[in-house]
Amino acid sequence: ERRAALAASSGPGVTSDGHRMPLLANVGGPADLPAALEAGAEGVGLFRTEFLFLDDSAKAPSEEKQVEAYRKVLEAFPESRVVVRVLDAGADKPLDFLTPTDEPNPALGVRGLRTLLDHPDVLAGQLRALATAAQGLPVHLEVMAPMVADRQDAKAFADACREAGLVAKFGAMVEIPSAALRARSILQEVEFLSLGTNDLAQYTFAADRQVGALARLQDPWQPALLDLVAAAAEAAQSVGKSCGVCGEAAADPLLACVLTGLGVTSLSMGAASIPYVRTALAKYTLAQCRRAAAAARAADNAADARAAAHQVLSGE
Ligand code: PEP
Ligand code: MG
Repeated sequence: ERRAALAASSGPGVTSDGHRMPLLANVGGPADLPAALEAGAEGVGLFRTEFLFLDDSAKAPSEEKQVEAYRKVLEAFPESRVVVRVLDAGADKPLDFLTPTDEPNPALGVRGLRTLLDHPDVLAGQLRALATAAQGLPVHLEVMAPMVADRQDAKAFADACREAGLVAKFGAMVEIPSAALRARSILQEVEFLSLGTNDLAQYTFAADRQVGALARLQDPWQPALLDLVAAAAEAAQSVGKSCGVCGEAAADPLLACVLTGLGVTSLSMGAASIPYVRTALAKYTLAQCRRAAAAARAADNAADARAAAHQVLSGE
């Protein structure tokens, strides 16, 4: 079935009426590159750099080791976008030498960018390694911070990037409702947004992403989540900047059409999902995607939102 999907689908992401929607891959390290290339990913939309830090829980990997890994990923996608997320430690991704152990609620504690701002040496080392890795390559490097809450966070990250001498676009992940609600203010400091819908759902519904019993609330079809996606996408559009999605939501072909209709500008997902999303997008016009998005947002729950979008897209 996977082979058939791959065979039936190739080329860039585009709706039936020619609206471009770049389809990018989420990767965890060089080992994920062959699958991303095979699926025809148009770049990397989320490079989770945590993997490098898992070998030694006592300290950060050397800058040399980081440069080697980053360069492999950048070299695999010459002249393409590669969006690297700086270390997202804490909560569901704890690291011994960085993550506080005495927090009552780690998901609401020092994690993501908060950890890096408490350990500026780790952030600076990672940014320097990225600058070195990108040297001489024709890649479009973009670097983003996880768990940005507000403009002050975005500015602190952009300042750190500039201080490290990084020549790249700097961006903020939208994973906290405050960031979606005030996306315009965050965009005063950074050049792009990327919606991390896994954490955005967790924080919107106060539903721990690691608690399976709360799956209903983690469902990315929840209309409240779609409202926040729309808010961020509209803010980015109003200032001519990009706003992608890199959470699991982008991997659901029907939801990918709805996200397109909400105004996001790229979709990043595990490589295995790219052919299915490409095939789904190619069936509908942008106007149909917009109608499906409006129908989903008008629903009262995730199941009804999905059914409403399906009805719009299958009935037309
Ligand atoms: C997300 O939160 O949606 C995301 C893409 O990041 P991660 O799943 O690595 O937290
Ligand atoms: Mg996240």
